[in-house]
Amino acid sequence: MVDQKQLIKTAKEIVSREDVKYIVGYKQGTYGFVTSPAFAYTPEDVESFIYNPLCKKNLAVYPILEEKLPLKRGEEEDKRKIGLVVKGCDSRALVQIIQEKGLVREDLVIIGIPCKGVIDLKKIEKRFPNQTEVVDVEENDNSEYIIKIGDTVHTIPKEELLSEVCKSCEFPNPPLYDFLMGEEVEVREKEVYSGLRGLDETPIEERWAYWEKHFQNCIRCYACREACPLCYCKTCMADMLDPQWIRRSVNLSENTAWNIMRAFHLAGRCISCGECESVCPANIPLMELNKKLEKDVKEMFKYTAGLDTEEKTLFGTFNPDDPNEFIM
Ligand code: SF4
Ligand code: SF4
Ligand code: SF4
Repeated sequence: MVDQKQLIKTAKEIVSREDVKYIVGYKQGTYGFVTSPAFAYTPEDVESFIYNPLCKKNLAVYPILEEKLPLKRGEEEDKRKIGLVVKGCDSRALVQIIQEKGLVREDLVIIGIPCKGVIDLKKIEKRFPNQTEVVDVEENDNSEYIIKIGDTVHTIPKEELLSEVCKSCEFPNPPLYDFLMGEEVEVREKEVYSGLRGLDETPIEERWAYWEKHFQNCIRCYACREACPLCYCKTCMADMLDPQWIRRSVNLSENTAWNIMRAFHLAGRCISCGECESVCPANIPLMELNKKLEKDVKEMFKYTAGLDTEEKTLFGTFNPDDPNEFIM
């Protein structure tokens, strides 16, 4: 359990500093099980900060989304730092972006949360449908979630609601932080790639049919892109008109092009936070694609994304001994 008082005290100290612009954490959402990002510019704003197993969103999207408006004549750029509350996977996203020179380490003040896993919103909403009243959820020491709805308390085994990505999380402790909220947590004993359903062994025709079945449901809302901290190109290929790599029409061919292109663009960069799959309204198992590529990158290039800010990126490195059987 993260000590909320300690979190609020630390966040207040950070936002009070002259070299900090604001800090981003979590606050209670406006309905049901939803939590929201909270932007605090003053110590008073920090009072709304919470941390509980519903705090799933990856807040690492925010520093790279910050709009850099043109400066008026004589105006100076605000170079103050941005504070951020991060779990293990969120911290890895920051590391990866810093490796790619998308962010500068010194521009961030990071509160790290040793993470015991978060709840899958789709699972809990299925269990308690049409929940409009705001609900608070806690985890107890017996690996159970305590859910209070009105006067009723529900105790549910953690495994039933835990996000699938958290069940196979290799890095629950943030690799990069300035302040750590509590002791590091143990990595769960698990099979990291068990969710791949033996994709490697499945005949190619079956694999193709499986993905066609899912891709035809894609509505090209691009929610997966917007929620992803590593999808931060200034101009996404999907939005380009000249050349137009992907047409705007929503059909199997273009949907497949979009999803395959995005998956490959994330190869060696995805940090397995699962946000893309969580926000997908069409329930496409995007993490199967991401995990397959992560596994291949690990096996072929001995590379894992987002662990060390000093390490070169996968695509920023050339090793003459790299496997090249796939190059024609
Ligand atoms: S993937 Fe790991 S670090 Fe991220 S929320 Fe799940 S357990 Fe926490
Ligand atoms: S979130 Fe899902 S439906 Fe929307 S573009 Fe991405 S894969 Fe398609
Ligand atoms: S592709 Fe999905 S799992 Fe990977 S970093 Fe982006 S949002 Fe997270």
